[in-house]
Amino acid sequence: TAEAGALPVLPPKGVKIKARLSANENPYGPSPKALKAISEASSDGYLYPMQYGAQLRKMIAEQEGVSEEQILLSPGSGSLLVAAGMYYANIKPGGSIIAADPTYEQLMRAAVQHGIKWEKVPLTAGGYDHNLAEMEKRVSDNTNLVYVNNPNNPTGITIDPVALRAFVDRVSAKKPVFVDEAYIHYTSDPAKHSVIENVRKGQNVLVARTFSKIYGMAGLRMGYMVGQPDTLAAISKWGGGAGGLSMTTIRAALACYQDDEFIKYSLSKGLEAREYLYQTLKQNGYTYLPSGTNFVLFPIRTKGEDFVAKMMEQGVSVRQWKFDGQYWCRVSLGTMPQMQAFAEGLKIVS
Ligand code: PLP
Repeated sequence: TAEAGALPVLPPKGVKIKARLSANENPYGPSPKALKAISEASSDGYLYPMQYGAQLRKMIAEQEGVSEEQILLSPGSGSLLVAAGMYYANIKPGGSIIAADPTYEQLMRAAVQHGIKWEKVPLTAGGYDHNLAEMEKRVSDNTNLVYVNNPNNPTGITIDPVALRAFVDRVSAKKPVFVDEAYIHYTSDPAKHSVIENVRKGQNVLVARTFSKIYGMAGLRMGYMVGQPDTLAAISKWGGGAGGLSMTTIRAALACYQDDEFIKYSLSKGLEAREYLYQTLKQNGYTYLPSGTNFVLFPIRTKGEDFVAKMMEQGVSVRQWKFDGQYWCRVSLGTMPQMQAFAEGLKIVS
């Protein structure tokens, strides 16, 4: 079973944080258009933002090729994961959610708090990929939901797109499937890797997306879910919905959602940092897992807590995991000066 180390928040006394690389944020956002929209929207802050929420929902539905009833907006995708976790826990008490281990835990934590089990399926040996065959084998009458995170946090591994779509085709005919695509923009081909195509085919599948990563809006809180209308209506009773969104956030999202130039820029800066990070790790004698995200996971030689504390002393904030009998460090992609601070810290710590 995987253990995630606590998020290091405060640096030791006298240490200045040079690089916060612990929460998979994107320092290139919010985009210039989003910032302009926020400043224009702030004076409209006395108005309820319903009409803008409706406009955003329509824009997202058109881009994703689904109807407006197939989009549920929310302040960040995390609250949708929690709402879905609670909803699926309560449809059948005593059931379970099948998901990889390690993966992003927010949905399962909410479900477990509501009394059902997380049936953990270890990642594949050596490749640290979702073990789709094993997950499918475990589906039974007792299964409430199957959760997949693609690409996966904390490993960064992307599932083979053909295998994933076939898995969703088969499994969603039996039980609902939830695919969390928070990092999809950082894969080689987001359209090929996304299973929104399966939603369009009418399958029992939900896809979560966020503005926290490629759009650099983690602090503004914006996310959405794509699914079948009845399912979204049922989940929305547990949380999510445009009611929790602020005027400024919605207007920022409207301004950047289709800003392809910014998305391309944001991605190119991320990929540049990822390549630099790969080289840095190699130069210091580390291996790493190939990432389809804005972070990289690599095995470390010391205890995770010690590694994180020592990096923090160098002003660099990272996170640690323990699984497969090994400690791992997860480092998010920052600006080049931040990546250089990581490289300098790593040299000293190694
Ligand atoms: N899903 C995954 C896989 C994540 O890594 C995160 C955050 O890091 C989230 C969802 C939630 O992000 P947010 O609530 O900011 O949309």
